[in-house]
Amino acid sequence: MYLSNYHSHCTFCDGRSYPEDFVKYAISKGIQSYGFSSHAPLPFDTFWTMKHDDVDEYFQEIARLKEKYSDQIEIYCGLETDYLNEDHHAAIDYFDELPTDYLISSIHYIIHPENGKMMCVDGPYSEFEEAANKLFDGKIDDVIRAFFIQSKKMVEKSGFQIVGHVDKIYMNGGKYPGFYDHQELIDELMEDLLQAILRKKLILEINTKSVLSQQMTFPNQRYFTRILELNIPITINCDSHYPHHVLQGKAEALELLKSLGLTHTMELKKGTWEEHKL
Ligand SMILES: [Zn+2]
Ligand SMILES: [Zn+2]
Repeated sequence: MYLSNYHSHCTFCDGRSYPEDFVKYAISKGIQSYGFSSHAPLPFDTFWTMKHDDVDEYFQEIARLKEKYSDQIEIYCGLETDYLNEDHHAAIDYFDELPTDYLISSIHYIIHPENGKMMCVDGPYSEFEEAANKLFDGKIDDVIRAFFIQSKKMVEKSGFQIVGHVDKIYMNGGKYPGFYDHQELIDELMEDLLQAILRKKLILEINTKSVLSQQMTFPNQRYFTRILELNIPITINCDSHYPHHVLQGKAEALELLKSLGLTHTMELKKGTWEEHKL
């Protein structure tokens, strides 16, 4: 089993430990490739994104660790970026000019199609519920549509390698009354999004952050068979915020995917993404 994780956070954003703690833990677990993907700065301040002023130090610190532990592990320095609108996404010059090894792009905010107001979909449920009621008049199907419109724009714009937690709307949306009445709509929008990911030749991450706590993966396991059928390249990421979570849920997700016919994963080896045969 090739042990890797390319989705991880540390004290440069909302991760709970220093980068070196993650590296030491990853080495102790036999991880071969480990990537940091701190939340990239947004045009506004949040508690969970990296500060613009810390970006240089982030790249310097990961470069130091890369060098220091080079005989034990391959360390990579990426970012998790957001698609907000046509002015802020992974393909802007700002990210192009940074010395990243790869980019993950994820949706944390959706935009109301008419009033243009922004809603966070990845925070605490109470905030999600309040925003869905206030901005979307409690129409959860409109929240779902807005989420997938935003995701599709992100994929079409591209400029990154990995699609992060592709259907995160299940996390908070799934707790909102009536969400599952729209399962057919969600499945249709998801199919359309998977087709776009395939066309753009992006890697789809299987995000295992919530496997143990909530028995959830992103994408939802109901799409695994279809993803394998389409032959979309995948990598299994743990979205770790604590050092002891660097492999959380990975073995469980890999077993399930293998039982459904997964034959290879995408892995970063010596700086290049390649197919790793299982
Ligand atoms: Zn994220
Ligand atoms: Zn993340």
